[in-house]
Amino acid sequence: MAAPVQGPFIAGNWKMNLGLREASALARQIVAAESEITDCSLVLIPPFTALGAVAAAIAGSPVALGAQDLFWEDQGAFTGEVSGPMLKDARCAYVLVGHSERRQLFGETDETVNRKVRAALRSGLSPIFCIGEVLAERDGGQTLDRIAAQLAQGLAGLSKEDMARVVIAYEPVWAIGTGRTASPGQAEEVHAHIRGRLREGYGNDTADCAIILYGGSVKPANSYSLFREKNIDGFLVGGASLDAGGFVAIAKEALRAYREEK
Ligand code: PEP
Repeated sequence: MAAPVQGPFIAGNWKMNLGLREASALARQIVAAESEITDCSLVLIPPFTALGAVAAAIAGSPVALGAQDLFWEDQGAFTGEVSGPMLKDARCAYVLVGHSERRQLFGETDETVNRKVRAALRSGLSPIFCIGEVLAERDGGQTLDRIAAQLAQGLAGLSKEDMARVVIAYEPVWAIGTGRTASPGQAEEVHAHIRGRLREGYGNDTADCAIILYGGSVKPANSYSLFREKNIDGFLVGGASLDAGGFVAIAKEALRAYREEK
């Protein structure tokens, strides 16, 4: 299981970037800076090939390891796929599920995402379950309905106990890798909606304890104002997580808001 979560939760999704040497160096730089942001929960999410190198680099530190995807079966004739037990074996505590790039480029659906969420939980991993609307849905006023549908379908069949191990990442698709960030108010509206749906479905404990991340062009310059929002518990950071200085600065700014507000 992942270590108990405290303070801002900051996860870096390195996507399909970095070879072994670069991944190891980046992880070491982040571990070296960790003492400046001790109240944060940090998760590094390298490509599969660098999981071992990053696991070695963060060993003995509070920084946790995550993977970018998993398959829903545990083993067998599924060439090219990686299972939950394999990720557990590789020392992962977290796994991204349903990232918008997987939904858009690799045909993932709410149904396959649900199978992956359940597989992650079965393997003792905490899924970081990604949801978010595309631009046409936002422009058409369908954002909250789309989010509600993704939550209902992606989390179908989960118990209250399961929910205690799920991290939710709200990532408006139009804000990922585009440099265009949701305003704090836009993000907060959706985060409050997500927490409200969790309250209706699973009760106050689940809703109050749920970790709901924002993702989409998070940078040091917008981390503080986003984190000040009541229902934003941390960030899933893509591009800016490839630079140790930027990633640590995002965590520091979130921590500044956390200490002031929460
Ligand atoms: C992401 O990949 O989850 C992401 C939010 O990317 P970026 O920060 O680059 O927008």
